[in-house]
Amino acid sequence: MAERATSIEPGVRVRVPFGRSMRVGVVVGIADTSALAPAKLKAVERILDDRPLFDPVTFELLRWAAEYYRHPIGEVFAAALPAGLREGRPAAATAAQLWALTEAGAAQLADPSNRRGPRRRALLAHLAVHGPRSDAELAPQFAPSLLRAVRDCGWIRVTEAATAPPSGQEAPLGPSAPLVRSPPIELGEAQGRAVAAIQAAEGRYRAFLLYGVTGSGKTEVYLRAIATAIAGGGQALVLVPEISLTPQLVERFRRRFDTEPAILHSGLADRERRDAWQRARNGEARVIIGTRSAVFASIANLAMIVVDEEHDPSYKQQEGFRYSARDLAVLRAQRARVPIVLGSATPSLESLENAARGRYDRLDLPERAGMARPARMTVIDLRRHGVEQGFSQPALAAMQTHLGAGGQVLVFLNRRGYAPSLYCTACGWVANCRHCDARLTLHRREGALRCHHCGAQRRTIVACESCSQPLRPVGQGTERVEETLERLFPGATQARLDRDTAAARGAVESVLARVHSGEARILIGTQMLTKGHHFPDVSLVVILDADQGLFATDYRAAERLAQTIVQVAGRAGRAERAGEVLIQSNYPEHPLLTLLTAEGYEAFASRALAERREAHWPPFSRLALLRAESRDTASLDRFLRAIAERGRAEAARGPAHPAPRILGPASALVARRADRFRAHLLIEADDRAALQRFLAAWLPLVESTKAPSGLRWSIDVDPLEVD
Ligand code: ADP
Ligand code: ZN
Ligand code: ZN
Repeated sequence: MAERATSIEPGVRVRVPFGRSMRVGVVVGIADTSALAPAKLKAVERILDDRPLFDPVTFELLRWAAEYYRHPIGEVFAAALPAGLREGRPAAATAAQLWALTEAGAAQLADPSNRRGPRRRALLAHLAVHGPRSDAELAPQFAPSLLRAVRDCGWIRVTEAATAPPSGQEAPLGPSAPLVRSPPIELGEAQGRAVAAIQAAEGRYRAFLLYGVTGSGKTEVYLRAIATAIAGGGQALVLVPEISLTPQLVERFRRRFDTEPAILHSGLADRERRDAWQRARNGEARVIIGTRSAVFASIANLAMIVVDEEHDPSYKQQEGFRYSARDLAVLRAQRARVPIVLGSATPSLESLENAARGRYDRLDLPERAGMARPARMTVIDLRRHGVEQGFSQPALAAMQTHLGAGGQVLVFLNRRGYAPSLYCTACGWVANCRHCDARLTLHRREGALRCHHCGAQRRTIVACESCSQPLRPVGQGTERVEETLERLFPGATQARLDRDTAAARGAVESVLARVHSGEARILIGTQMLTKGHHFPDVSLVVILDADQGLFATDYRAAERLAQTIVQVAGRAGRAERAGEVLIQSNYPEHPLLTLLTAEGYEAFASRALAERREAHWPPFSRLALLRAESRDTASLDRFLRAIAERGRAEAARGPAHPAPRILGPASALVARRADRFRAHLLIEADDRAALQRFLAAWLPLVESTKAPSGLRWSIDVDPLEVD
């Protein structure tokens, strides 16, 4: 432990008395005077750090975010710290323990006659390929019990990682550039232009929108741009939507740079997280790859930020501190004066508009690397064709053809479970959740009825609770699709990827491995399929139900649907063989579908932006959503009406013309969830500044309005979903 620190400055942690207990806090400011009587002030019990935990830009970013998202600053700082540091553990990193292959283990692996224990062999092979690995890194694929068993055989052992420098000391930075390994391929022309543009922005802020279809070589552009950005001793921050779904990306960074990236995500054990956090902070990790909260990582010498799949909704935290990591990443780049690259095959409408206005430089990669051709999209009119368990005749015929030709088929349906409702054909009774205004989803294999809104679960029933007649599952979920296809294509092995099949340890990897090895011929999955992976042997993609997104109430639904279709389509195909994409719909003449399939994402996006402009939706206005919930619907409504009225009066007094508008109260789509009624007010202003001014004036009034007991409310600035 470092000796006791004595100087206090913003960004250090302190232990302070709070009521009868002690709490750990972060110093956000220092004052000479106080409005409180000296007797009411308490002394800091202990200073925990001898230097600030945050680099100055991150510190300011956190303060700014608390203000902008209207969230308590303590929770904002807490979100930026690994749990152990929140609890007051020392910030100095302890050496991580790594598992390494022993000589006996290597011999074991090399022995071709040894065919026993495929899990053990997989572990040995993994360590042989990747080098020493920590518990956390192995955890997604290998159980702790397996590690112990293999250790007891003497095939692996624990070593200490190259340790981080002791507390207070900076790692030596400077020209010790990471070695760039693996002979880089020759860049295509568009890639070369993109890399040159990003390199030219070195040392200053510039935002780039890297727009390129899946497989167009965006990752290669990131790798090149990062290589030069960090060559002088800097560090790069790479944000990704979900680490567990993008192991290939992480692996490419690991292979390209001769330096172990720091990986930051919520699935890590605290010790690993603290270790990675510390390696970012002290400059030792040259590349930091993380999910949304990594935008707050303290980074000694930031030189570049990359946000991969910038359109992905997971960049927005949807509960508690509701921030957008994508938006904050841009702000961070601005403050730190470094370039930022936002990459996507389906950029968000906001980013496209920012590029159109000249705020971002747009870099296009119009073609797939290695000359692969784009997939051909066709809409199938469900009204004109016979449908069997959700599959139209043309879709089944196409599957037959592609499977027969040796291709793999990907079937996309964004609904897990067996069927979304259980229905009585005799009396019309439906199995509903007792706690929500929602139907229960049948999960047949587990024999369970589950509520996808509150998580409630009960054993499945076969007879109607009202008239005792047999019940019928209605509609399709991925589990049912799997059953249908097993019957229709008995020779074709299937793999299913959704939150149910991915729950078990290592399950995602094993599903992906079965697809990549070619063992699985049909891959069925939900939204999880749209992220990260590339399936070169998939030649046909079937999107079972496009209509879910066409008529949703949310103004972003169309954008989401288009992104999903293009992302799923982009998973398929390789150089020699153009992929085929079939989209099933009851509304094939819907302008969104026709535009998207005939002219592509960009044509769709311009039209969708024109519609947003017309309707005054973001990015042509700014929104905030005040959500409230309570067990009592009447008092919920009264409260929302009262604060809406105060807000309208406040808006009318304010300087903005036109004044911010308050819409509602309106019930949420699922009006009752977990026995609580939910409703909201939507605040719409012409621009960010007007919205912020209004919230600053109104929220204190909301806080001072007496809420009925048990009522909870929260504010969401720049909400992703207006529900
Ligand atoms: P994206 O990130 O846009 O999906 P990647 O960078 O992953 O694209 O590239 C897709 C595939 O094409 C990868 O296998 C990659 O190694 C390869 N690739 C990328 N750039 C080139 C290039 N200039 N020449 C040949 N192959 C390339
Ligand atoms: Zn009945
Ligand atoms: Zn429920």
